Amino acid sequence: MTDHIFKFPAPFIQNSKKSKVSIILIEKPDYPHWIKKQNEHLQAQLSQNSFEADPLQLATILNKDGKLEKIIFSLSQPVYYLDTATIVQFIESNYSKEFIESHVFEVISTHEEDISNKIAIGWGFGAYRFDRYKKNDAATPILVWPNKADQKHVTATIEGASLLRNLVNTPPNDLGTDELAEAAKDVAKHHKAKVKIICDDDLLKKNFPMIYNVGKASPRPPQLVDIQWGKSKHPKVTLVGKGIVYDTGGLNLKPGQYMRDMKKDMGGAAHALGTAWMIMALNLPIQLRVLLPIAENSVAGNSYRPGDILPTRKGITVEIEDTDAEGRLVLSDALTYACEEEPDLLIDFATLTGAARVAVGYDIPAFFSNREDYIDDLRHSSVESDDPCWPFPLWDGYDKNLNGNISDIKNEGTGRAGHIEAALFLQRFIDSKTDWIHLDCFAWEQNGKAGRPKGGADTGMRAIVDLIKAKYG
Ligand SMILES: [Zn+2]
Repeated sequence: MTDHIFKFPAPFIQNSKKSKVSIILIEKPDYPHWIKKQNEHLQAQLSQNSFEADPLQLATILNKDGKLEKIIFSLSQPVYYLDTATIVQFIESNYSKEFIESHVFEVISTHEEDISNKIAIGWGFGAYRFDRYKKNDAATPILVWPNKADQKHVTATIEGASLLRNLVNTPPNDLGTDELAEAAKDVAKHHKAKVKIICDDDLLKKNFPMIYNVGKASPRPPQLVDIQWGKSKHPKVTLVGKGIVYDTGGLNLKPGQYMRDMKKDMGGAAHALGTAWMIMALNLPIQLRVLLPIAENSVAGNSYRPGDILPTRKGITVEIEDTDAEGRLVLSDALTYACEEEPDLLIDFATLTGAARVAVGYDIPAFFSNREDYIDDLRHSSVESDDPCWPFPLWDGYDKNLNGNISDIKNEGTGRAGHIEAALFLQRFIDSKTDWIHLDCFAWEQNGKAGRPKGGADTGMRAIVDLIKAKYG
């Protein structure tokens, strides 16, 4: 049933007897020296192409019969992980299916492992398709594995990101709460992890009142997925992901233009699963737990209301100011549950606030941590992995904005710096002994570019894996 969620591009081959097209990757500073060493035929063709090695510039070199022999491609400065997706796009739009299927492509470069990984990851991201609802039988150009690429790392990255994209892209009619939980179960099964699911009324019996209350108006029952993997001797890392499979806003109904893309409100859960996929595929020496509070925020006679005062697992009462601020509510129970086990590191991903998008746009998750070290470490990893993340303060001065009049707290503050107030809300449920990182991410590519088509996209996942690898790997 979840096959389409696990459809990943695999556009690589170890070697092949098929005709090869060489791709020569160059960087602008090296170009004047490089061009002097080439034969006249190649120099002439490059000059006809007005090739000057500007970033992402591409030129084709034909043999004497007029057939494609080489592609010359200039990388960005510094090399960017999606550079080579431009080549995949070029080949697909300029050559026939027959040509692409009868050839393989091979990069010629002297780059070291990290750049070789980017070259391969860009190719893999470029080969991603979401064609469940619109058939596409175009051929995918196949790349001979670059010599120095870490095949395990590259494959895990492409698979983790594609899993995330497939989950977010699947429309809400086909990805309800059961289907998302089923996909999570299959992720666990694939990596031989243990999984438990607490569903519907059992959420009340086991004291997860917020997940239940947010999801109770939908015929698709709320649930909590709990995946456990790894050896108990290793440090414990817990990932939590907001899994609102569709967010109408509830009784505070969203206007149409804001509801349109709300299938992506489970993007946090998709990030947690993509991250977990990478960690398990790389067999990192950590004890992993993944908690996904899953619900549909719907409208019905039994919807939770603005003005309701609801209990939480932690015992804190919350007055509902706005039923569209539901993400922090389902997260509150999951974060409380996570902290009961005292993990070494707790990370949550959530498509949480519009304020984060006002502050840093679509591409950059706003992140928060209760530990200064992690603020520096994640910024560093985000630069290393071309996956920008930007820190914001858990400013204590705003914390009182959440205080309730007749409840402990409210689910919205002043509405100024809403991403900071949302993070402070979550912090109320974090044990102060637990190291915690919160990412308020978009999980979506708004414009679309080579290797990153419009739709579900990773925002912060690769940076987090890099951070975990650096700390525990
Ligand atoms: Zn909402």
